[in-house]
Amino acid sequence: TDFSSNRVRRTFTDFFHELYQHIIVPSSPVRPRGDPSLLFVNAGMNQFKPIFLGAADPRSEMATYRRVVNSQKCVRAGGKHNDLEDVGRDVYHHTFFEMLGNWSFGDYFKEEACIMAWRLLTEEYRIPPERLYVSYFAGDATSGLPEDEETRHIWLSMGVPSDHLLPFGMKDNFWEMGEIGPCGPCTEIHYDHIGGRNAASLVNADSPDVVEIWNLVFMQYNREADHSLRSLPQFSVDTGMGLERLVTVLQGQRSNYDTDLFTPLLSAIQQRSNCPEYRGRTGEADVGKVDMAYRVVADHVRTLSVCIADGVYPGMSGAELVLRRILRRAVRFSTEVLQAPEGVLASLVPTVAHILGDAYPELHKETDRIMDIINENEAQFLSSLKQGRRVIDRTLQRLEKNDTLFPVPVAWSLHRNLGFPLDLIGLMLEEQGLSVDQRALDVLAIENEKLRCQMQTSVGDTLVHLDLHSLAQLQSGEVPHTDDSPKYHYSL
Ligand code: ATP
Ligand code: MG
Ligand code: MG
Ligand code: MG
Repeated sequence: TDFSSNRVRRTFTDFFHELYQHIIVPSSPVRPRGDPSLLFVNAGMNQFKPIFLGAADPRSEMATYRRVVNSQKCVRAGGKHNDLEDVGRDVYHHTFFEMLGNWSFGDYFKEEACIMAWRLLTEEYRIPPERLYVSYFAGDATSGLPEDEETRHIWLSMGVPSDHLLPFGMKDNFWEMGEIGPCGPCTEIHYDHIGGRNAASLVNADSPDVVEIWNLVFMQYNREADHSLRSLPQFSVDTGMGLERLVTVLQGQRSNYDTDLFTPLLSAIQQRSNCPEYRGRTGEADVGKVDMAYRVVADHVRTLSVCIADGVYPGMSGAELVLRRILRRAVRFSTEVLQAPEGVLASLVPTVAHILGDAYPELHKETDRIMDIINENEAQFLSSLKQGRRVIDRTLQRLEKNDTLFPVPVAWSLHRNLGFPLDLIGLMLEEQGLSVDQRALDVLAIENEKLRCQMQTSVGDTLVHLDLHSLAQLQSGEVPHTDDSPKYHYSL
């Protein structure tokens, strides 16, 4: 059977369209339309949020949707769902990925959704059922939410053995779009890559051996600004399956990077740089520097291509700032770890377009523009890196002989004036045997961020309903951290 990624994607939409009368809807751009609570589209359901909330314009086509299927371009590199830290370290989280999804808006509910999903996986894609494990919502006392026994019974009646059925709490089996927005209990299908006897214990355990592939969410609530749950006007089904993970299963691989979605990129990287070949062909999270760099560069160039094609350019705030960090991260990994000459990053864009262009033709159309923007930003960053090194050298010469503490004001000006992420400064200083008072820098960063937020809120921006802290986090594109200290994701 042909399990090329293009075919796998098409089989998904055809299945729901032909057998179950779903309308095929195109992916929305990754820049969210009119939703200030989001940096990037992070799930297939985002574009349907008004329907869940009962707020779709009655004259719009959307208001007529009952059953819908699509493959959605998603970016998870900021906000509530932020996977940037995992990318390259493991082999199944990307900053950009495609989410295959089917929806029922007030039409079918739990039982039909489970039957359709199981049938697609085991009959159409021919995945052996004994390799599949299913999790369901265990309930949550603090929120007063009951266990989802109904779903458990549905799976049992479909023949899923009870030792393949596992209850989990809020973190894994209650899906929420963001700090606010539609949410509900979910049931998820996981794939056991090794046929292991202890597979059940590896579900939701961050193991490469048992990987979550499909999430079926039963949308019943909206998370309000005051954090309470309000019942939605109608119950809906919202599912999402990662195409890359599914293709890995169907192509008999252990790592997403060993499928046709990534191998052409890895070979192109190798051909154009001066580095040893990619050897990470196991599911193990192998943090070998070179292999990780290959994965990061391949991941990031996809994200850059898709975002730029959708009009999100590297810049100074919000999603643009996140993209700028992704670009700088890719540049550092490719030039410093893989020893790739300047220009290699952009040269990978036609390969991205070749891999994804069937599904997302804008990548073909925008190839030149994407390459130009990547090249421009790379050149700019490399020159500020050089400038930064000069500043560090000069400061070093002025330091007392045994002084290894770098002056905070100089570090801060590297950040403010040359745009260095704070942890990159730490890293560059470390290379020279120096250190800097990181806490003092954090304090400066927080004060600076607060000032910026106050300015935004006072002009009556739509973001005004968010508290200052979450606003700061949203704007800096980071996962909300509770300890009040900003984190800069820029580690090598
Ligand atoms: P995980 O627990 O592995 O981080 P998740 O529970 O955060 O995944 P969901 O929000 O349930 O993911 O999204 C639905 C599906 O999208 C997942 O089952 C997975 O197949 C896929 N997916 C989620 N995040 C990523 C990612 N960063 N890269 C690739 N695929 C992803
Ligand atoms: Mg996740
Ligand atoms: Mg999960
Ligand atoms: Mg999930």
